[in-house]
Amino acid sequence: MRYFCKKSRFLFFLFLVLILLLGYTLYFDTTGKSKQASIGGDSSLLRSRKSQRSGHTVATVENHQAVKGHNTEKTQISSKANVGEVPVFITVKTGRTYHQTRIPLLLQTWFNYAANETYFVTDTEDEDISRQSGRHLIVSGCGDGHQRDALCCKMGREFELFYLFGKGKDWFCHVDDDNYLNVPSLVNLLSQFDPNKDVYVGKSSLGRTMSLHWEYKSIPAILTNASRSPFWFATGGAGFCISRHLSQRMQPYVQNGKLVQMCHFTGLPDDCTVGFLSECVLGVPMTPSRLLHSHLEIQRVPVDQLKNHVTFSYGVLGKQETLIPVDGPFSKTEDPTRFKSYHCLLNPQVEWCPR
Ligand code: UDP
Ligand code: MN
Repeated sequence: MRYFCKKSRFLFFLFLVLILLLGYTLYFDTTGKSKQASIGGDSSLLRSRKSQRSGHTVATVENHQAVKGHNTEKTQISSKANVGEVPVFITVKTGRTYHQTRIPLLLQTWFNYAANETYFVTDTEDEDISRQSGRHLIVSGCGDGHQRDALCCKMGREFELFYLFGKGKDWFCHVDDDNYLNVPSLVNLLSQFDPNKDVYVGKSSLGRTMSLHWEYKSIPAILTNASRSPFWFATGGAGFCISRHLSQRMQPYVQNGKLVQMCHFTGLPDDCTVGFLSECVLGVPMTPSRLLHSHLEIQRVPVDQLKNHVTFSYGVLGKQETLIPVDGPFSKTEDPTRFKSYHCLLNPQVEWCPR
């Protein structure tokens, strides 16, 4: 009997151990599984979202999800430049052909002064540029050529990016990838205006207005009240800025492919069409700024005033080069665009600037 008792106690103990072991295994199995399920759940959710979405906004949204994972990298970039928050959302239009030739120079120079606020809108994936820009390279889904449709499509995406990620910003600014953007001077320029009013700041490189030949056009209902007067437009290659208030008024005309439709209507490039939208459709005249420069003008800024100017570009006009008139420290061979020299004039403390 005693033996039996001992034995049953032993069996009971063994049973208890077994139950505990089973419970333990079950517990870890289910929590593990539930973890897996939530990961699987999320990714399948992402997959199904991906397949449901069509069109190009998808790329921007998904790229932004990637951006979130790279905050450290971005913070490092901007802290290196040591500037405060910039109240401007900046988009740079670019394309596959310029990833190697133009973008690295921007990443080396002015991008560092607005790394959190600047996005590149392109047509082709590029892991190197994407990583170096803190995942700010947005593949637009637009064509990769210099044609009106492709460039209007990219400009439309630039606006869409502002609506998506520029919520806290007072200004939306566009520049081309052959622009140097002097960020502190830009902030200074814009501080003269009220972002809650309708403001469209730019530079006319033509020096004259544009007109549409309305008589040959079938006019969409949305444009029946538009003014038929000649209008000014801000050249995209000099950069332009639009206040938050005006950007919001432009939203129904530009997002979801609407800017491409408007470019079809005007028969004009994207920057001209933005001018038409501002001046003729919304009644907001362009405010000219002498601080913005495209490569379509000879940049005759006195050296002692260079620091106050906001954008510069490079190119040839007729037989003359249109470069930032900065002498050094780099030679023309070392720095054919003059961007590095200008960057060092503005920021002599940068480590690669000769001392
Ligand atoms: N661009 C582009 N794809 C192209 C050609 C140009 O996205 O195939 C962009 C380019 O990156 C730049 C803008 O369009 O931001 C103007 O192009 P570019 O400077 O080559 O010509 P421009 O019109 O100034 O003479
Ligand atoms: Mn250009």
